Amino acid sequence: MNNSPRIRPIVNPCAQPFWDGTRQGKLLIQHCKECQANIFYPRLFCPECHSDQLDWVESAGKGAVYSYTVVYNNSPSAFLQDVPYVVAIVKLDEGVRMCTNIVGCEPEKIQCDMPVEVVFEKLDVEFTLPKFKPAQ
Ligand SMILES: [Zn+2]
Repeated sequence: MNNSPRIRPIVNPCAQPFWDGTRQGKLLIQHCKECQANIFYPRLFCPECHSDQLDWVESAGKGAVYSYTVVYNNSPSAFLQDVPYVVAIVKLDEGVRMCTNIVGCEPEKIQCDMPVEVVFEKLDVEFTLPKFKPAQ
C-alpha cells in the first residue's frame, strides 16, 4: 500500500491564472493580442511573435488525443496508487497541446485522434487538475 501524499503542482507566477481557472471549472489558455496565437503552457511572452500582450481566454475544453502512454509500473512514487494510468498529450480544438491524463476509459480503448473533453478533478482546496475523458 502506498500512502505517499499527492504531489501538488509547482506554480510559476505567470501560470497562476490557469490554476485559478481550473479551480472554477474553466480551462484557460493564453491568447496573443498581437498575432492572435493561442498559447499553452503559460508564458510571459508569445512564442510566435515575442509580444508580452497576452490575454487569458477560456477553451471549450474539447480536443483529441494527440499521443499517449499507459503507465503500468511506477514504483516507488506518489503515483503508484494510480496505476495503470494514462499520460497523454491532448490537442485542443483551439490548436494548443496539453499534457494531461485520460480518465473514464479503459486504457486499452484509447486511440490517437479519439475525441476527448475536459473534466476537472479537485486535488485539494488550492488545486483542481484538468483531465480528459472520451467525448460524449
Ligand atoms: Zn504573438
